[in-house]
Amino acid sequence: MSLDFGPAVALSCRECGARYDLGPSFACLECFGPLEAAYDFGTVTRAQIEAGPASIWRYRSLLPVPVDVATKPNMNPGWTQLVKAGNLGRALGIRSLHVKDDSGNPTHSFKDRVVAIAVEAARNFGFHTLSCSSTGNLAGAVTAAAARAGLDACVFIPADLEQAKIAMARVFGGRLIGIDGTYDEVNRFCSELIGDPLGDKWGFVNVNLRPYYAEGSKTLAYEIAEQLGWKLPEQIVIPIASGSQLTKIDKGFKELIALGLVEDAPYKIFGAQAQGCSPVSAAYKAGHDVVQPVKPDTIAKSLAIGNPADGPYVLDIARRTGGAVEDVTDAEIVEAITLLAATEGIFAETAGGVTVGVLKKLVENGTLDPEAETVVLNTGDGLKTLDAVSSIAEPTAVIRPSLDAFRAI
Ligand SMILES: *Cc1c(COP(=O)(O)O)cnc(C)c1O
Ligand SMILES: [Zn+2]
Repeated sequence: MSLDFGPAVALSCRECGARYDLGPSFACLECFGPLEAAYDFGTVTRAQIEAGPASIWRYRSLLPVPVDVATKPNMNPGWTQLVKAGNLGRALGIRSLHVKDDSGNPTHSFKDRVVAIAVEAARNFGFHTLSCSSTGNLAGAVTAAAARAGLDACVFIPADLEQAKIAMARVFGGRLIGIDGTYDEVNRFCSELIGDPLGDKWGFVNVNLRPYYAEGSKTLAYEIAEQLGWKLPEQIVIPIASGSQLTKIDKGFKELIALGLVEDAPYKIFGAQAQGCSPVSAAYKAGHDVVQPVKPDTIAKSLAIGNPADGPYVLDIARRTGGAVEDVTDAEIVEAITLLAATEGIFAETAGGVTVGVLKKLVENGTLDPEAETVVLNTGDGLKTLDAVSSIAEPTAVIRPSLDAFRAI
């Protein structure tokens, strides 16, 4: 079987630069640093991209996938709406604001993007079972993609997740294993499983397929730039779980500049965490380069990674671009979910409450420029985290079906 990863030519170590053949490996043999996809891009033009499908596959020439990727059974994620958020902008005092609304993906979170790339890697390596350690959204994205691709799935979650995320992961078939522990313990368990004959032939999308999986997040950067009229936003607010998405959006912006697809203009990247799981924000504020693991305790369960693998890279990017990392309380998350919904008609999951809450805080404390072109990400759907708004999960009033009763209230 010959491998086809399109323009990707190698895996390279993010720490020491050592290069490896494309394979199901994720850590450098020299220094244990994380591996990422390295490319040899040909000429890529705006016109080529614009002629492509309304999905992440319009950017296939910038991704580690074969050229015929869109013709295989897959979820066709991406090309979600970039909503001009004039009402929210006015409420917060920001002149030009957009919400990139990734709740519009097939399983209602941004995870469909990363899984779609991992599925191609699994096909390349001949893996028949897809797996992952998940904070919730990934489990559903993997089981759905496996169903469509005709692969088996066995996914792992902390047992105490939201009911909607559990049902969503099970409805597509496959096996869903709840682990009595935190996400970080689930993740450690998966690393052990890969080293065991039980799991060594499985494609763990965010472990042994992570260098491919992670590239899917670049499509958020490409789409935002294209939807802004081939222009980078001046400021962007991104949620942090492991930090992978944030680092790859930066990589995507840099690639667009290097390929001449957008003008080389500065952009600031802001990271957002929930206070109940804010190891990166804490390190940023303390001026540290390393991230001290924490035990998560927040309603933003999709972001509840206490030991984020990409934490140090996030710190680098926030500092290099002139951004920042900030956090908000659970109460501020709920308030932000309601604000976004009432101003823009977008019902975000708790992760969207985190980014909008952080956006508000950054404007209020003067860190974010209210005059600059700003994008805030909503990465998931509020229907998956209904508990966060349980206080309004009832009608304004209940009355008899009569005009008199209505008049009375
Ligand atoms: C997974 C996830 C993220 C970001 O995850 P990273 O590990 O930082 O890439 C953001 N929002 C939601 C809703 C998620 O499920
Ligand atoms: Zn290395």
